Amino acid sequence: MLAPYACAPANSRGRLYPEAAPEHRSEYQRDRDRIVHSAAFRRLEYKTQVFINHEGDLFRTRLTHSLEVAQIARTVARSLALNEDLAEAIALAHDLGHTPFGHAGQDALNACMRPYGGFEHNAQSLRVVDDLEDKYAEFRGLNLTFETREGILKHCSLRRARQLGEVGQRFLKKRQPSLEAQLANVADEIAYNNHDVDDGLRARLLTVESLCEVPLFARHHADVLEHYSGLSPKQVRHETIRRMINALVSDLTQTTQARLRKLGPADVDAVRAQPAPLVGFSERMRAQSLELKGFLRDNLYRHHQVHRMMFKAKRVVHDLFSALSSDLRLLPPEFFDQAEAAGRGDGAAARARVVADYVAGMTDRYALDEHERLYQPRRLR
Ligand code: MG
Repeated sequence: MLAPYACAPANSRGRLYPEAAPEHRSEYQRDRDRIVHSAAFRRLEYKTQVFINHEGDLFRTRLTHSLEVAQIARTVARSLALNEDLAEAIALAHDLGHTPFGHAGQDALNACMRPYGGFEHNAQSLRVVDDLEDKYAEFRGLNLTFETREGILKHCSLRRARQLGEVGQRFLKKRQPSLEAQLANVADEIAYNNHDVDDGLRARLLTVESLCEVPLFARHHADVLEHYSGLSPKQVRHETIRRMINALVSDLTQTTQARLRKLGPADVDAVRAQPAPLVGFSERMRAQSLELKGFLRDNLYRHHQVHRMMFKAKRVVHDLFSALSSDLRLLPPEFFDQAEAAGRGDGAAARARVVADYVAGMTDRYALDEHERLYQPRRLR
């Protein structure tokens, strides 16, 4: 039972290479399945969210982060009668283009690629599903539907939007994506804010006392202590975080439902024509979510220990790019062949892009290993 403003597979703008409709699944289920079966999706297991993979086994990785985003997006999609399969597909694919070492890796790669058009992880996620996953007989990439691709491209520069065809148009025309895409975007924010609190506390980089400066945390923490006595710190942490997620999800669902009722968009095109996204929090919850985000920025992402690790991560990415682009024969043979072929046209930029694709595809541990192999003379291969 889909709402009129949900994305229905029957109204899909389709795939770049037309294919027969799937027999036992919807078009968006097929998208989700192709994403789950991709190599880029498996690599998410070994890519950093905040903590590098070797720092501990219990921290979120990009894979578990993406699963949490999908879970939140599906819950809200179902209660708003939006397309749950599409929201899930977008959520599972949204981080496929991330470099190793999270934002530090992307900043370093963007700096390396500055003379050649830069590097944006969102645009890279689209590049992964449109081009870099190359194992189907009939097309390059995963040949996903327009709606999934639209959702993956959360933001991008105007310059890049001009090169992306139909899927880039909304950035030029200042239009909105589907509600499912808007939802996956907010679900991402709910997931990372909350799991970063959890991981930050577990790593002892954050304290409960300091987090009580944040009203959203303080309120739910006090609620847990009021209802229970004798809980372990782990139980208090979990009970507080599950209440925060629940409060955010409930506010998001109710606020969005009220906006949709008031506006009553007739279809997806009416959603796309809106001046601003319709999926979102109330003013009050928006402010509280931003406060939490600001707290995490100042106390976790800029924490001395995280900062030192990110410094090292940036250097690894920079060194890898610089070695591989200065001598293409250091690349694995299949990437070398691509760089050679790409370089025949406009030369340097196309070759650099092949190196960036290779580096961006690396997992944290592969990047660290490759760095050692290239820079440690005692490593033989
Ligand atoms: Mg994310």
